[in-house]
Amino acid sequence: MNEIDVLVPAAELTNMVEPSPPELGENTFRGILTTALNQGYHFARLDEPVGAPLGCPVFYLRHDVDISTPMAMRLGEIEHEHGVCGNFFFQLNAETYSFFVPETLAIIRRLREMGHCVGLHIDELLIGADERAIAQTFDWVIEHIVALDRAVSFHRPSPEVLGRRYEAFMNAYDERVFDAGSYLSDSRRSITFHATLMAWLAERRPRIQLLLHAEWWREVEGVAHFWRLLSERRNDELRRYMIKNFPKVFASLLDGENRQFSV
Ligand SMILES: [Zn+2]
Repeated sequence: MNEIDVLVPAAELTNMVEPSPPELGENTFRGILTTALNQGYHFARLDEPVGAPLGCPVFYLRHDVDISTPMAMRLGEIEHEHGVCGNFFFQLNAETYSFFVPETLAIIRRLREMGHCVGLHIDELLIGADERAIAQTFDWVIEHIVALDRAVSFHRPSPEVLGRRYEAFMNAYDERVFDAGSYLSDSRRSITFHATLMAWLAERRPRIQLLLHAEWWREVEGVAHFWRLLSERRNDELRRYMIKNFPKVFASLLDGENRQFSV
């Protein structure tokens, strides 16, 4: 029996236990924004890392768009409602969405119009970590496809890019904006970062980088529900592609209505 069992009655002991963590969802997300604002944080763009007013703690809100462009759009709208900016990184070779389609390009344009920083989520297995290769990728996309901000985050980053400073673009893992004492994320769809984040905001830690994957913030009944929503969207995108490109062959698919998807 340890000391606390002897000294504290059971009812009081329950009160001392950490309150259950909040749920992933819009309310919790809004709570993070308002808490940071109330604590005087300046929400900064990663491509302008030193733009904060003097003496203001800095908050880099980062979203790697691994799965859901509709949810990236949704979080961008909520941030805009709160008058803050985020940093969104889109992947060229994701298999969960297509970068080079009007819907994604429209979301990128809209996010930039709202004042968010929108850069590339680089897959080192495709492009590598070489400065020239990434800079030329930006040149090509910006000149021919869609305007972007010259900032990157890396998908499953190798040790080579952690802390690395590039000249031609900003790296979200640059040592000026990233270190273990200022970085938190919702990786593996876990809310466990939340208690630490609230403690850091309470003490007004001078710099915080928070990576939130937009898709995890869609309220769902569970992973099976999430999987169904994602599969339905991808299936519908494939259906529309086949109708548009091979109309005579896939005429029988034409009767599906146009649907809106939230994941
Ligand atoms: Zn990623």
